[in-house]
Amino acid sequence: MQLLNYIAGQWVPSRSGRTFRNLNPADTRDCVGEFPLSSAEDVALAVEAAAEAYRSWRLVPAPQRGEIVRRAGQLLRERKEELARAMVREMGKPLVEARGDVQEAIDTADYAASEGRRLFGYTTPSELPNKVNLSFRMPVGVCGIITAWNFPIAVPSWKIFPALVAGNTIVWKPSEDAPLCANLLAEILQEAGLPPGVFNVVHGDAEAGEALVRHPGVRLIAFTGSTAVGRRIATLCGELNKKCSLEMGGKNPLIVLPDADLDLALQGVLWGAFGTSGQRCTATSRLLLHRDIAEHFLERLCAATQQLRVGNGLDEGVNVGPIINARQLERIEHYVELGRRQGARLLVGGHRLTEGEYVHGYFFAPTIFADVTPEMTIFREEIFGPVLSVTLVDSLEHAIALANDSDYGLSSSIYTRDIVAAFRAIRDLEAGITYVNAPTIGAEAHMPFGGVKATGNGHREGGWTVFDIFTEWKTVYIDYSGRLQRAQIDIEQ
Ligand code: NAD
Repeated sequence: MQLLNYIAGQWVPSRSGRTFRNLNPADTRDCVGEFPLSSAEDVALAVEAAAEAYRSWRLVPAPQRGEIVRRAGQLLRERKEELARAMVREMGKPLVEARGDVQEAIDTADYAASEGRRLFGYTTPSELPNKVNLSFRMPVGVCGIITAWNFPIAVPSWKIFPALVAGNTIVWKPSEDAPLCANLLAEILQEAGLPPGVFNVVHGDAEAGEALVRHPGVRLIAFTGSTAVGRRIATLCGELNKKCSLEMGGKNPLIVLPDADLDLALQGVLWGAFGTSGQRCTATSRLLLHRDIAEHFLERLCAATQQLRVGNGLDEGVNVGPIINARQLERIEHYVELGRRQGARLLVGGHRLTEGEYVHGYFFAPTIFADVTPEMTIFREEIFGPVLSVTLVDSLEHAIALANDSDYGLSSSIYTRDIVAAFRAIRDLEAGITYVNAPTIGAEAHMPFGGVKATGNGHREGGWTVFDIFTEWKTVYIDYSGRLQRAQIDIEQ
């Protein structure tokens, strides 16, 4: 199936005619489609279209822009099953998770649409008589959006819907590993009534992404992906003086204290570590387990992990889908090898699955390492696969110190019934998100989402905070005194 870019309301191939193929990771005999491998020329056409559309889109009242986003949410609802199945086919997560991905976008549409009737500014007293001070949220302009593949609808919607409501126009470079969902979302926005050029999709790899970052007509880059690529984008945006928001990697700790509901904690670890095959920025990748409960807890955890059903996400009862591509599968293998060599103790998994139903896909057995120390690579680096590291701790303070011994700071979790321990963890964990008695995954659309340290650059998507990314403040002074008032100077007199 030949798929196209979406530029100025038209479906078009890349100017060069180059394409790339996207394969189903559960069965690589299934080619999902052939997509344009775009270059700077395609990006320029899309930015031109977005710049032209911006002239009128910015003047559409925000509640009306919100209504279009609301309709997009309604269309997502109607096409939820179709989108979820397309998502499983192109990136592998189990169907129930894919439905959740679409639901997150529906919720985001509803929230963003309603914000069209708020977008509050401030009115304040002036320091001078007969003068009024106001401030408004203004759109930024043409926004470049670059996304990862692991949440093909949800994560782009976190950026796209609020950006549109705020009056921006968009050029989106989706991941080359999840391009089909991008086209389905473009279809939905088109049907919802978005004028041509307001939203554009340019497929491709790093070449197209970097061209988007560099294009002088793009005022803002909103990026979700790895910390390495995010750093590169931040450097370029710094040189080019562009606004940029970055959502990057994680190495998320989950603490279990002896007083916790251990059955609940066990379920939380399983879901946090192996949901989406561990391919979530918020995946639980470090279990910090209190020594007093370790032996029995690990025994049960290993038994439960071996019960997880790995397979094609479309098959009934599958808990863990495939790994996204061959390169990532090799990366996971490399980390497992490093874990072994550096002295961690492999408890379960640790290998590819290649026989029978797995023969045509990229599958890796859910893996747990014990005796992991902070010096080991698997404690420190993001693996982005179904690999859990276990480190024993002696106290809450020890657990928090180890949790914070990381370059990253996205999500974190603690299981305890002790309210004092819970509040200490909330206060002391260096992370954008802390869960109490819930795993590290499970963001809700109306709450801020993002991380500290190497995970982000100070922005938060989700809820109301995303509008700080996609708007600029305009400050307005209205002087009705009929004379020249010289602010600070006239106050002194
Ligand atoms: P990636 O960084 O390899 O790619 C992300 C996007 O950037 C893709 O669209 C890619 O084509 C593009 N890109 C690559 N090089 C580029 C360049 N030089 N200039 C511009 N664009 C470029 O990440 P991935 O493998 O797609 O996704 C996995 C990563 O995403 C993990 O690190 C994960 O933690 C992170 N992630 C973070 C969040 C979050 O909200 N914090 C959410 C999901 C995923």
